[in-house]
Amino acid sequence: MAATLIDGKALAAKLKGEVRARAEALPRKPGLAVVLVGDDPASRVYVTSKRKDCEECGFYSEEYALPAETTQKELLDLVAGLNGREEIDGILVQLPLPGGLDEREVLLAIDPAKDVDCFHPYNVGQLTIGAPVFQPCTPGGVMEMLRAYGVDPAGKRCVVLGRSNIVGKPMALLLLHAHGTVAVCHSRTPDLKELAASADILVSAVGKAGLVTADMVKEGAVVIDVAMNRNEAGRLCGDVRFEEAAERAAYITPVPGGVGPMTRAMLMKNTLTAAMLHQGVR
Ligand code: NAP
Repeated sequence: MAATLIDGKALAAKLKGEVRARAEALPRKPGLAVVLVGDDPASRVYVTSKRKDCEECGFYSEEYALPAETTQKELLDLVAGLNGREEIDGILVQLPLPGGLDEREVLLAIDPAKDVDCFHPYNVGQLTIGAPVFQPCTPGGVMEMLRAYGVDPAGKRCVVLGRSNIVGKPMALLLLHAHGTVAVCHSRTPDLKELAASADILVSAVGKAGLVTADMVKEGAVVIDVAMNRNEAGRLCGDVRFEEAAERAAYITPVPGGVGPMTRAMLMKNTLTAAMLHQGVR
């Protein structure tokens, strides 16, 4: 392997340590409420890991595990209650919600000052104009990784595969604000291979194992694999064919141990930011 491995696990541990130190200096502990509706096993795992992250960072946390039959009104009432509670700085509603619940309405109901996932249109707007209150967790984690390894997107050709509201679009915005020249590819992009192969920084967030082959990686590129897929053997993998891409890239993220841990750490950072705002600490 020629590429340098970007160690998301180590960076996330460092970031959480910094968050903890800053949280300890606050008059009141940051507080995060996590709401899970239904019994999706993957979501349950995410919620458990968020509780552990809160413990590691010295935060106060609450968990609400609601049945799949929860009504829209019950969920909105819970969010309204959390909005009004002083000890809760961040509210996270685990997505996807079970069918029948209106995700957009629920996300809109969260107080933007407690929207630590950065999904509320107010925060998306702030992000778009380059004045974000919170960093979108996954793309924000990617930017931290680039910074930590001395990769400056300024003047670089950046190609993002995927255009979701959670990853692709905010990723493109952050790279653009960092003065990259950004192309966003999706399922209707005809020349995806050529575009990917032209990238100095290639970020893949599609969700298709094996999509990114060595010929799509420019010699010396930085390759960030956001995806979390299962291969035929049931093992966690990204979009990128890691072994072959690592022969051409200068830097590459592993899956697991890359973007995933950084996403979690950024949620803690955003909760700290919310707590500082709520306590008037700069
Ligand atoms: P998503 O909402 O399903 O979006 C996938 C995107 O990929 C869409 O924009 C889609 O295009 C595009 N796409 C699908 N097939 C394609 C193809 N053959 N060629 C090019 N583009 C294609 O997924 P997401 O929520 O953004 O997540 C993407 C991946 O990242 C998933 O594996 C997810 O598990 C992972 N993820 C990881 C983290 C982390 O912390 N590491 C966080 C979030 C997500 P259209 O828009 O045209 O449909």
